[in-house]
Amino acid sequence: MKPRLIVHGGAWSIPEKYEQVHINGVYKSVAEVYPDLLNGISALDAVEAAVRILEEDPTFDAGRGAFLNAIGEIELDAMIMDGSTLDFGALVAVQNILHPISLARKIMEETEHNILAGTGAQMFAQTMGVKEVNPEELLTPRELKFYKEIKNDPNFKTKNPFEPFPKGTVGAVALDTNGNLAAATSTGGTPRKLPGRVGDSPIIGAGTYADNQSGACSATGWGEAILKSLLSKTTCDYLNIFPAHQAANLAIDLMEQRVQGWGGVILIDKNGNYGFSHNTEKMAFAFADESGKIISKIKIENK
Ligand code: ASP
Repeated sequence: MKPRLIVHGGAWSIPEKYEQVHINGVYKSVAEVYPDLLNGISALDAVEAAVRILEEDPTFDAGRGAFLNAIGEIELDAMIMDGSTLDFGALVAVQNILHPISLARKIMEETEHNILAGTGAQMFAQTMGVKEVNPEELLTPRELKFYKEIKNDPNFKTKNPFEPFPKGTVGAVALDTNGNLAAATSTGGTPRKLPGRVGDSPIIGAGTYADNQSGACSATGWGEAILKSLLSKTTCDYLNIFPAHQAANLAIDLMEQRVQGWGGVILIDKNGNYGFSHNTEKMAFAFADESGKIISKIKIENK
């Protein structure tokens, strides 16, 4: 089977001055990982590697460069899922980890559990030899400035889709040469979130889902609405009836109509078709097309 890889870097009103770094960031992730996928690495390895590149890039709200919460700290959520077994690993509200996606994979593979939270996840990281980093390593001057700007602004609302957020969550979906699907999502959540807030990204079926029998999906946008509409599972369920591009559009429409939500999805169906949709002004995403050429975009022109 010809492998597939698609990644996203958030769906918000990304200001124009940050467009190019978003386009470059998602391009780089696919460009570095897709050749390995062609050479036979697993879908799980591919989504982990693709997300690690995006976590390291301060352009995005994941790992380095994550948004600060209401008390000026960084708390990270992440999840990875294996479409062949439906196994998954996730962590919520974790601090001082540069690559939460790799820790999520260790939770999936090295424990009897699926989700670890906060200090428990950090203790597990130590036992696995995953080093904690100083909070300063994740903090960028741009995010500190943004935090100071919005800290006491009563008009700032996460649920406003036109709020010009500088960045968003990251995610990746892959299909490997054996026909296995995987999905991964990593985030710092929403700006000025309450400490302990958990978004959609690490919740199975909401921000992330993968099933070899239908497809795999990673979502981004306003987490509270994505949770209510179980956006990733809804998208994959639509694949049982509709082609990939339509499944993506219908899932976004459902979220908008039922819970007035907004955001975006990327997906691959079990036959290797891509789907993507967003009802935000922009969504940064990139994928390798049929010929292996990498397409990188900041929005879908014709829905
Ligand atoms: N969905 C993420 C959250 O609410 C944010 C994002 O996608 O940018 O935590």
